[in-house]
Amino acid sequence: MPSVDSIIQSIRTTGRAPSGENAEACSPALAKGPWEFDGVVQYGPGSSMGDVIPVGSPRQGGLPEEYRTAPADELHARIRAAKETLGDRVVVLGHFYQRDEVVQHADFLGDSFQLANAAQTVPNAEAIVFCGVHFMAETADILASPEQAVILPNLAAGCSMADMADIDSVEEAWAQLEALYGTEPDANGRVPIIPVTYMNSAADLKGFCGRHGGIVCTSSNAETVLEWAFERGQRVLFFPDQHLGRNTAKRMGIPLERMPMWNPRKPLGGNSGDNLLDARVVLWHGFCSVHKRFTPAQVEKARAEHPGVRVIVHPECPMEVVDLADEAGSTDYIRKAIAAATQPTTFAVGTEINLVNRLAEEYPQHEIFCLDPVVCPCSTMYRIHPGYLAWVLEELVAGRVVNQIEVPDDIAADARVALERMLSAKPKASAHDAAAS
Ligand code: SF4
Repeated sequence: MPSVDSIIQSIRTTGRAPSGENAEACSPALAKGPWEFDGVVQYGPGSSMGDVIPVGSPRQGGLPEEYRTAPADELHARIRAAKETLGDRVVVLGHFYQRDEVVQHADFLGDSFQLANAAQTVPNAEAIVFCGVHFMAETADILASPEQAVILPNLAAGCSMADMADIDSVEEAWAQLEALYGTEPDANGRVPIIPVTYMNSAADLKGFCGRHGGIVCTSSNAETVLEWAFERGQRVLFFPDQHLGRNTAKRMGIPLERMPMWNPRKPLGGNSGDNLLDARVVLWHGFCSVHKRFTPAQVEKARAEHPGVRVIVHPECPMEVVDLADEAGSTDYIRKAIAAATQPTTFAVGTEINLVNRLAEEYPQHEIFCLDPVVCPCSTMYRIHPGYLAWVLEELVAGRVVNQIEVPDDIAADARVALERMLSAKPKASAHDAAAS
């Protein structure tokens, strides 16, 4: 099966997919090299190109010309040679949403937390090259030993969802919520509110949760984490992804009217004090632009055109899509569900297209397609290209560490507290199978 990159190039040159079928990409700029966008204040082409990039977001300096102009075969050979020279001094991590041209060089493939843990299994590696996005490299740095350098091949590979909650806005929201709720525990010892951050958030927000009795969650354990929080608090402030928060709380039986949205640009988040007093989960106004592309109409079309189709979507999708799907779960859940299907099955999958295409290639006995007919990869994952990987590895061979991601010690210590709470949170016996990501 052709890679997403080669499908995009085929659309650019022929207007069709390599198979000859009609195909459409969300931006013609996807066919360019990501270095074309390194000096520009935007996320670049792809699913989050319309999102507002925060002031002060990390910028990638110019990639040396030899890496921008080298043919693909040469880049792959140089990456392989550099990895061979470095041996076990380096480990390359590849996220599920990364392009195939990069993933083929990864020593480990997984979701963000699996990769951060994978890095811990290679204590001799002096450098961890994280082919993912910024918050993932931060988490790897928090969990790595102090001697290990975590490298993000393109510093502009952020995450538009993570960028929707920043420490100043969350501190401000917290001050307003504490003024409203007070800080005294109730008769059961539960504090008025507990902060819960999704793994897809900056390290200083994980640190905030560590300092304020809060916790981190992934899309695999969000329900277990919310149970943990409700044992200790009367309500939760959940950031940055409203959809994961809403889908998880709804699954736990919490009514929508007890999940007000917090818009950080408005006083009291745009709420009246009354609805906040009755809240169980205060949802931050954040979202993933990849998963926001999935719609109920796409699910209905898949069902009409493929009778018997099994629709599996990620819980970062809007609630209306999750409600219509057969199942919702993390990337790991989606992979396992497909791997466990014993009969040839048609799967319509609502998550990032690089992962969906890879699953289709891995399981040819099934028909697997992306719910979104438009080819629109995660625009920030797109910023990593084999040229950047070759560059950071050859710099390591030359004894230079470039693009290192370092979380300050005080933030890392607080963030580790929130991560450790997550690791120690255990599902209740009666809990549903967690909506995994
Ligand atoms: S898929 Fe969404 S949440 Fe994941 S890195 Fe891309 S923008 Fe961020």
